[in-house]
Amino acid sequence: MIDSDDEAWMRKAVEVARSKGSDPSTSPLGCVIVRDGKVIAAERNQTHELPDATAHAEMMAIRRACEGIGELELRGATLYSTLQPCGMCTMASIWSKVGRVVYGAGRDDVHPMYFEAKHVDTLSFITDAYRDDIVIEGGCLAEQCATLYYGPDAELPAEEQANL
Ligand SMILES: [Zn+2]
Repeated sequence: MIDSDDEAWMRKAVEVARSKGSDPSTSPLGCVIVRDGKVIAAERNQTHELPDATAHAEMMAIRRACEGIGELELRGATLYSTLQPCGMCTMASIWSKVGRVVYGAGRDDVHPMYFEAKHVDTLSFITDAYRDDIVIEGGCLAEQCATLYYGPDAELPAEEQANL
């Protein structure tokens, strides 16, 4: 269940996302990883800056968190993301052994340009993982998070659509 602590951490993730500015074409995602009540990583996506196609906010945060604590596994940690993680980041969450993934806006709340596949919903990755100690919950400050992105029906030229 999402509670007020989760909302507080998500507000932090939104702040991290906004640190990049508010242009929805730059996919401003924020991710915060929390363990034992402390932030162990807070990153935004940096694909264009690096440049690195795998530098999604969640990937960057998982890397920083593992480096920071000097461990391969993030058991007991919660990963907060302003947008439903893509397939790559969902798999990275499974491999990094986080215990919980909480996201803000879901697939239906934003434009499809933020996702890699038309019909694959990454929620099933978690359901189908060998692990039974990982959960994913969406809708935490969903409306506030959705304002970071293009709406579901926004008419965008092809060159603005990151997934084409
Ligand atoms: Zn991703």
